[in-house]
Amino acid sequence: MIADFLVKNAGGLYCKYGDFYLDPQLPVKNAVISHAHGDHAKPGNQNIYCTAFTQEVMKLRFKKKAGDNFNVISYHQAFEIGGVTITFLPAGHILGSAMVKMNYWGSTYLFTGDFKLQKDTSCEAIEFCKADVLITETTFANPETKHPNPEQEIEKLNQISTNILLGVYGLGKAQRLTKLISQICPQKTIHLHYSIFPIHQLYQKHGINLGPFQHYGRKILKQNPENQVYMVPPLTFNSYGRAIGVVKMFASGWKNLQHGNDESLYISDHVDWDDILETIKMVEPKQVWTIHGDGNQLKAYFSDSLTVKIL
Ligand SMILES: [Zn+2]
Ligand SMILES: [Zn+2]
Repeated sequence: MIADFLVKNAGGLYCKYGDFYLDPQLPVKNAVISHAHGDHAKPGNQNIYCTAFTQEVMKLRFKKKAGDNFNVISYHQAFEIGGVTITFLPAGHILGSAMVKMNYWGSTYLFTGDFKLQKDTSCEAIEFCKADVLITETTFANPETKHPNPEQEIEKLNQISTNILLGVYGLGKAQRLTKLISQICPQKTIHLHYSIFPIHQLYQKHGINLGPFQHYGRKILKQNPENQVYMVPPLTFNSYGRAIGVVKMFASGWKNLQHGNDESLYISDHVDWDDILETIKMVEPKQVWTIHGDGNQLKAYFSDSLTVKIL
């Protein structure tokens, strides 16, 4: 393997052998984009390589500034940039999220992007492959992090008849929760903040049945004192302060985002500690390179058995 196959610079994660970036943070010539979350998909790149869903979200969000030349790539469809052969595999994080498998001079490098192993029927299930180098996020790479079962977390809503103000990330989490609530709490009516509605529509367009949902209207919570769920993005959620007559919950894997709410809701679209170990077992890498979060605990855990490099 090549030690500097991927390096971190001001633009992001760069491969000089193929002259492309993975999830670039600044506009670049060749951008391989793992998924549509705002911290991964930025506007203004020249040649963009991503899945169809990622492209649609970027165009919805950035309009004409989304980028010059989109190359829409299906999962498992190999393509080349500068002599590096690239294949997307489902990452199980949100709809259209891709892990990026790169082959170069006989070595395989697997960049996970954001990914998860937990069941989520609102997106493609993760597909692993073997790789010499695993490049992975370490958002929750801490032995103390253990994400609970999402179905059991959603069960909490069945104990609450009062209306619920539910804070969610609008892309991915909102759709996953809509589907979970419609299956586990069918007595609830889901109302969407106007910024979330179009993303739900995109999911439906791509064949994901999320169950029933509707636009939020001003008087709905007042007129119906029970079993209404109003899903709002983080900024709106925070602006509500001490809302009267509703139970406030925020869906996240982060402890600090649970403080100050009426009930906790630990649902994460990232891997926890056990999931990272499981991933390493499946991929069987010779080396692990880490980005995002803190890779030190992983490095300590594997100190005798596996090279862990923090990029
Ligand atoms: Zn993400
Ligand atoms: Zn991310």
